[in-house]
Amino acid sequence: MWTLKDRLNVLRFFTEPEPVLIKKWSDLRAFCSIMFVMPAAVGVSHWVWDYVTDPIGARHTIGLRLLFLSSLVFPFAFKYIKNRRLLEFASIALGMTGLFVYILILDRIHNGMTYGIGGFTFFLFIPLLMFQGFSVRVNLLSTFLFALFPQFLGIIGIAHHFQNAQYAVLIWPTAIAMMLAHFAFALNYRLRYESEMTLAQMSNTDPLTGVSNRRHFIPTIRDEIMRSQRLNHPVSLIILDIDHFKKINDVYGHSSGDAAICALAKICRQMARQIDTVVRLGGDEFAILLLEANLEEACSIAERIRAAAEKTPITTFGSAEIYFTVSIGVAEQPEGNTSEKWILEQADAAMYQAKVAGRNCIMTATTPYSQ
Ligand code: GH3
Ligand code: MG
Repeated sequence: MWTLKDRLNVLRFFTEPEPVLIKKWSDLRAFCSIMFVMPAAVGVSHWVWDYVTDPIGARHTIGLRLLFLSSLVFPFAFKYIKNRRLLEFASIALGMTGLFVYILILDRIHNGMTYGIGGFTFFLFIPLLMFQGFSVRVNLLSTFLFALFPQFLGIIGIAHHFQNAQYAVLIWPTAIAMMLAHFAFALNYRLRYESEMTLAQMSNTDPLTGVSNRRHFIPTIRDEIMRSQRLNHPVSLIILDIDHFKKINDVYGHSSGDAAICALAKICRQMARQIDTVVRLGGDEFAILLLEANLEEACSIAERIRAAAEKTPITTFGSAEIYFTVSIGVAEQPEGNTSEKWILEQADAAMYQAKVAGRNCIMTATTPYSQ
């Protein structure tokens, strides 16, 4: 059942945020490139219509009809020009030019304005496919302009024999139907976009704690290490694991274990900065990728996490309060090393050292890096 709120919510599809527009264009650019063949095919082949209507006049429309071939430039423009707004503008300009040329063609045909009036509907139908990758606002505006432009040319006397009343009765209902169709396509794309984003978010997130999962983390750490190396900025990694976690599960039950995992995730999120990535590697093990942080800075964040963890009470099923501690390993990526494996192994080995050293402490990677 669609409530009034749902109906009003549909209005949000009129404003498409930039990420939606970028993805829409990248998803549909190839489709649009193919669709831009249509004006060339229809514009030129419909010379037959001129010939059937007026064989003599049709001799003077061939040159004008060949101008429709200019739409074939657009697939190349879509490939090489990155500025989407420029392409949207150029596409509207192509439509307006096409209308102007079409009016010149009809002027050269005996009774052209009467026989060819239906041809104006093509200028509304075809962009429905050609302009799929553009914003819904551009599509609505272009439909409005394409419907209005011939009327304007008629009024200022450029379109001779223009039959305003017939044109208005034929074109405006079509234009409204096309605007609705544009909106329906935009709505369809947006719903698909939103469900894709939800799925992507779900596949990157650990369902218990809401932090990133390993699937998301590995490409992230790889990219960030490459970027940091390129910019010569420090990057560090913390790996932490709850001490004697099995005991919490065994003595107080899995729900208490889950509560400890969630509490640790919350602490990590609170102590990490906006630019850092917190990830649950699995079980009771977490990692934090710290950008712009050297070993010393990473150790101070690790210490804050360790201290917060030992002070955080967990309420068990039987309402008892229990406490847990964590062992932490810290490593900094050395200059000239772009291997994410190296830092993961080093931080993990340091964490293991912390376990060996008695737990509830922090160890740093000691293995010197040699190229
Ligand atoms: P150590 O101090 O050496 O880390 O000992 P530990 O008992 O913490 O050992 P370990 O880190 O290997 O424990 C992992 C346990 O975590 C084993 C598994 O049963 C449990 N576990 C894994 N995933 C979950 C989960 O989602 N919820 C709960 N409650 N337990 C989990
Ligand atoms: Mg553990």
